[in-house]
Amino acid sequence: MLTIGLIGGMSWHSTMTYYQRLNERVAATRGGHASAQVALQSLDFDQIRSCQLDGDWTASGALLAQAGRRCVAGGADLVAICTNLMHKNFPDVERAVEVPVVHIADAVAAVAAREGWRTLGLMGARWVMEETFYAERLARHGIDVVVPDADERVEVDRVIFDELTRGRLVDSSRANYVRIMRRLGDAGADAVVLACTEIGLLVSTDQAPLPTIDSASAHADHLADLALGLTPLPRLTAA
Ligand code: GLU
Repeated sequence: MLTIGLIGGMSWHSTMTYYQRLNERVAATRGGHASAQVALQSLDFDQIRSCQLDGDWTASGALLAQAGRRCVAGGADLVAICTNLMHKNFPDVERAVEVPVVHIADAVAAVAAREGWRTLGLMGARWVMEETFYAERLARHGIDVVVPDADERVEVDRVIFDELTRGRLVDSSRANYVRIMRRLGDAGADAVVLACTEIGLLVSTDQAPLPTIDSASAHADHLADLALGLTPLPRLTAA
C-alpha cells in the first residue's frame, strides 16, 4: 500500500473527514486491522487565511510547497491538498515534489462521470466560484458549471469563513445553503459540488434538495483507491 501525503489543516475540521474516510475505505477493502498509511502536514489555518485576505498567493504557495516536501520526507508516495480553494497553489505544490499531486477536481469529476452528470452547481469560497482555476479543471473532463448569483456567493463565502472553518454549524445557514442549491438546480445543475471541504459537515446528502458531490469524500475515496492500487496513479507532469 502506498503512503498518502495530506496537506491539511485548512481547516482541521475537514482534515478529520479525510483521515476518517481514508481509514474506513482501506479497512473496508483490506479487512482485518488494515488502515491507511498517512503522512500528514497540518498547517496553521490562520497563516493561510491571512495570505488569502492579503491576496498573497505567492506566500501561501511557499507554505503549501514546503508542506508537500515535508509529506514526501515523511514517506508520501502521492500528495493531496485537502481544500478546494488552495488548489490555486496546485502548480506550486506540483513543482515542489517528485510524486503525483492528486487534484481534488479530478476526483469530483470522476464521481460526476460515474453518475452521468454533465452540469454541476459550484458552491465554495468566493475564489472557487468566481475565478477560473477550478471550473477549468472540471472543464477538462467535459463538465460545465453554474455558480450562485452575486448575493448568494457572498452568503456562501461568509458561512464558510465565519462558521464552517471555525467548526460552527448553524441551522439558518443550512437553510440558506439548501435554498441556493435548489436555485442551482433550477438553473440547470444536475448535481451540486460541495466545493469547500467543510460543506458536507453542514448539509448532509438527505438534507440537500438535489444530488451532491462532497469534494472531501470524493477526494479521500480517490486517494484511498490510488494507495490501494485500485486506480492507476496520475502521470507526473513536467514541472
Ligand atoms: N476548506 C475550504 C475549501 O475546500 C476552504 C478553506 C480554505 O482552504 O481556505 O476550499
